[in-house]
Amino acid sequence: MSVARSDELFTPDPTKPTAEDRMAELNLSLSPEIDYDLDSMFPKTEGWGWKSQMKKKAKLIQQIEPELLDCLHEGERVLYVAKGVRYSFVEFYFMGLWASMINHTQFVLTNLRVLMIHCNSRGKAKRTFWMLYYSQIEKFKGTWNGMLNLKLKDGKKLSFSGFSKSDRKEMPTIFQQALDRYRESGFDPTTSQSLENLCSYCKDQVPAQTHTCDNCGATYWTPTQLAWRSFVFPSWGDFLMGHTSIAVLEMFGGIITWTTLLIGLQRWAETGNTVPLVVALFAFVIAHSIDAIITVKIAKKGLHPRTMPDPA
Ligand SMILES: [Zn+2]
Repeated sequence: MSVARSDELFTPDPTKPTAEDRMAELNLSLSPEIDYDLDSMFPKTEGWGWKSQMKKKAKLIQQIEPELLDCLHEGERVLYVAKGVRYSFVEFYFMGLWASMINHTQFVLTNLRVLMIHCNSRGKAKRTFWMLYYSQIEKFKGTWNGMLNLKLKDGKKLSFSGFSKSDRKEMPTIFQQALDRYRESGFDPTTSQSLENLCSYCKDQVPAQTHTCDNCGATYWTPTQLAWRSFVFPSWGDFLMGHTSIAVLEMFGGIITWTTLLIGLQRWAETGNTVPLVVALFAFVIAHSIDAIITVKIAKKGLHPRTMPDPA
């Protein structure tokens, strides 16, 4: 696989201090095993706020370095890293601001593709990984309110918000340059869907609708498996997906609906009155169905590990 070198595009301005010198000044270091294009990653090396910006960004990158090492191919060069929040209308509708808690994503723009790593609010990598070849991006747009919208070749749309002010300023340029370069080179690898899932363990591609990694044997929950669990007891699916804080909240809801149902059953057994039971059952089915539907929506977005890779 030949990849156009990116060096020529990001020639640093000779009148500005280089990112490398500035990092040394601040005593910041990144893994020497990863090929970083420091000048495109840290375009701001002078002026107001460069120091704090650089420190913050370096810290963010350090949070995903072990995973990045696993993800990157030979000759793959990191051009930019930023953290945002993936936006989903359904989740925000039902969960409000809580939805952003489970949608933090680190974006890694390389000379080959865009890697996305699910992370916590501090940027620490979680277990779900995606990748997107530039050739799969039909349209890319940064909006006035700081959203980043992507329209993908397979018709899917992705929206992200929550980028820092400097990222909002710098990222579109780097993105556009990478896209333009890809259009010129015509590099268009085949994929099973625009936003490909990567195995949580070996970081190999796991094709659409597949829940076993061919390379290492790790298995993943299917959305249906998770939805049924969430229907039986709200929060179960979210616990399995590792969304613990949201799951704890849902668990209280589940305790209430189950208790109400059991009280209804008891009344019916004792008095023969079916009204409390019917009301409780109605509420139970509605609430648990909503939870199951949201679980499916969330689960479909990426892979959630079920069993570890084969030891062999
Ligand atoms: Zn694997």
